[in-house]
Amino acid sequence: MNSGIHKNNTPWPFAVLFYIIASSALVIGYLYYRSLEKNIRADTLEALSAIADLKVRQIIQWRQERLSDGLFLAANTSHIRQLARFMTEPDNRMLKHDLLQSLKSYVDSYDYRNALLTDTDINVRLFYPAEDTIIGDYLRALLPEVIKQGKVVLTDIHQTGKVSFTHLDLLVPLKGPGTNDSTIFGVLVLRIDPQEILYPILQTWPAVSKTSEALLIHTEGEEVVYLNRLRHSEDAEMVLRRPLTRQKLPAAMAVQGIMETADALDYRGVPVLAAMKKVPGTPWFLIAKTDREEAYAALSDRKGQVVLITVLFILMSGFLLGFLWRRQRVRFYREKYETELERMALVKHFDYILKNANDIILLVDKDYVIVEANDKACETYQYDRNELIGKNVNRLRTPQSLGRFGQDYKILGDTGHLTYETIHRRKDGTDFPVEISARKVDIEGVPYYQSIGRDITERKYTEEILSESEERFRKIFEESPFSMVMTGKDMGIIRVNSAFCDFLGYSEEELLGMTFRNFTHPDHIENDELAVLRLVKQDIPIYNTEKRYIRKDGSVIWGSTTVNLIRNNKGEATLYFAMIQDITARRKAETELIAAKEKAEESDRLKTAFLHNVSHEIRTPMNAILGFSSLLNEPGISVGDRKQFVDVIFQSGNQLLSIINDIVDLAGIESGQVRINNSEINVNKELRKISEQFGYKQKPVNVTLRLETPLPDKDVQIYTDGTKLIQILSNLINNAFKFTDKGKISFGYAKKDEFLEFFVKDTGVGIAPEHQVKVFDRFYQVDSAVSRQYSGTGLGLSICKAYVELLGGRIWVNSTPGEGSTFSFTIPWLPLLWQL
Ligand code: ADP
Repeated sequence: MNSGIHKNNTPWPFAVLFYIIASSALVIGYLYYRSLEKNIRADTLEALSAIADLKVRQIIQWRQERLSDGLFLAANTSHIRQLARFMTEPDNRMLKHDLLQSLKSYVDSYDYRNALLTDTDINVRLFYPAEDTIIGDYLRALLPEVIKQGKVVLTDIHQTGKVSFTHLDLLVPLKGPGTNDSTIFGVLVLRIDPQEILYPILQTWPAVSKTSEALLIHTEGEEVVYLNRLRHSEDAEMVLRRPLTRQKLPAAMAVQGIMETADALDYRGVPVLAAMKKVPGTPWFLIAKTDREEAYAALSDRKGQVVLITVLFILMSGFLLGFLWRRQRVRFYREKYETELERMALVKHFDYILKNANDIILLVDKDYVIVEANDKACETYQYDRNELIGKNVNRLRTPQSLGRFGQDYKILGDTGHLTYETIHRRKDGTDFPVEISARKVDIEGVPYYQSIGRDITERKYTEEILSESEERFRKIFEESPFSMVMTGKDMGIIRVNSAFCDFLGYSEEELLGMTFRNFTHPDHIENDELAVLRLVKQDIPIYNTEKRYIRKDGSVIWGSTTVNLIRNNKGEATLYFAMIQDITARRKAETELIAAKEKAEESDRLKTAFLHNVSHEIRTPMNAILGFSSLLNEPGISVGDRKQFVDVIFQSGNQLLSIINDIVDLAGIESGQVRINNSEINVNKELRKISEQFGYKQKPVNVTLRLETPLPDKDVQIYTDGTKLIQILSNLINNAFKFTDKGKISFGYAKKDEFLEFFVKDTGVGIAPEHQVKVFDRFYQVDSAVSRQYSGTGLGLSICKAYVELLGGRIWVNSTPGEGSTFSFTIPWLPLLWQL
């Protein structure tokens, strides 16, 4: 632990951060200082350059003025004439006096120190004042050229042993007084003391400065000569010289054409900033310079500030980081302390658990020797603690379970933990099943196994019971003849028995994951879902229903279904259990029974109606017969009346007979006694007979009867029951006449493949679609005003249908109410050839 704290003592991240912040601050401070320095340098150099320019302009102007003086004197002809005369009359006192006066005026009024008149042989002929009257070497060398050129010249500043002061001369060559006479007769030399009139220009400085000065220099051989008096060297006038080769000397740089420098050492060897200019028209250079120290004085103030700010910043960040580091340390130690407290608490807690644990806890070393055991272990194994400690843990196992020991501990060694079941033996030799949860632990670098064991005798017993019960349930479930199915809370199927698979035709795999929705008929789904909700809410204890299921092959079957909701101990719904009994056969029988019952009821109803009709139908002709026969007995009846009565009796008898025939026919059909008597007939002939009979019988005014026989007689010789065929057709034609007021009735046949298709078509009242099938039922009459006004029993068409079917064909009707009906039927086409 100590080493951990020690390690944390070195705040590396903070130190690195501080190092980065500090060096960044230093770099920034330095860069800022450098930029300040650069600005000051640029400003100073700019100012120096401007001052140098100003001075140069002033010197040029001063020179101009001097040269103008010279030109003015050279052009003053009267004065020239006087001077010329003086050359020839040197003893003319008056003239000399006048000329001296004028020389004096140059000296007095024009700031010249001396005025001399020389002749062309460089002999001084006249001068004022009386000192420094000798022409020195410099001038002596220069004058012959001036005389030759005849131009006004301002000389360089020079020193000569014969003149007491450093000076320069304005040389005015004097031309002969005649207008055409250009001969030079002498030179007027006006000596200028620059100390008095030139250097003051240099000495003024536009700003207050302790070290700034302007220097005028020229070169002599390999040396720079300082012409004016230097600020920092009082007696330097024309005395101070420096070699041109001297490094960093502004004067030397000026000669080399360098215009400004920030890195120079002046004549004293002091670092300066300087701007240099050449003075045009002269051999002079002007240097304006300031001591570096003065120029950078402001900078050194700022330098102090920058250093101060940088140092403060670094110190502050140091303090801040130190503070943060300290805080972190405090937190670290606090956490350490808390962790230690927790650890102590845990140790206590674990000691407590170890002692009082309800599980066997053993600590085993790497050689499987027990090194620690808790109270429960001692109690369970019936050994003292001392007996247990030092014992090899495998000795707790029974000989039978010892075989697996090596394997178990190998897995434990490899994976670090293992849970397994085995059998252990107590000291008294009794065995018990135990569940061990073992884990490899590292205690201060030494590997151990910690084994927690639990006596699972009771659990094993319960498991056995459970598994037996589960097995029983499985058997019942699997072998039940009833379909059984279990679903989860979400209604997804989780278990089915084979009866259920057979019931629906799906395999078990297909059913797992399905829900009832997948095979319940859509009509029942809503009801089912409601019932399930009610089961969950405990509104109903059980849900019983009879419903349809859709099998895998699409067929629909009925199942009587009972659904139970199974809840856990907390009363939460966990499973749905459904039992289904196949009741398809029962349902079918019921449906058939109901249909039969309905049919019977319908039949009964029809028969009642029939009886009513029959009695009416029979009673009507019977009344006529009885009434008119009794009238026949009345005395005095005329022959005509009698004949009429007999006709009525005859017709009524016929009607009665026809009704009775119908009833007999039906009875025959119902009892299965009607037989088919096939014989050879000619269809055309039979039809013609029927047509004739109706033509004779019926005399309707508005209805015509037409027969259509599309095939020639020889081709319609067939083999069938002619009587039945005629009866069918007659019935249909009879009906057609009954239900047709006007228009036409046509009948005939057509050959259709293996059949002859007969038709009877009328333009009568027609039959509504809903009645078109039913009219072939027994006793069925379309209950309409039209039907009711005709007599009838509702038997005719059903007899036709029975006969057609007996003959091997079928019958149907096409009809539009108000337009008419076409009754059609087929009979097999059995030509005579076939019979042979
Ligand atoms: P019914 O003796 O009452 O005529 P049917 O069995 O012959 O008995 O006919 C049953 C019913 O069919 C009739 O009552 C009638 O309503 C209807 N019907 C039969 N033929 C025609 C037809 N040609 N035109 C219209 N209705 C017809």
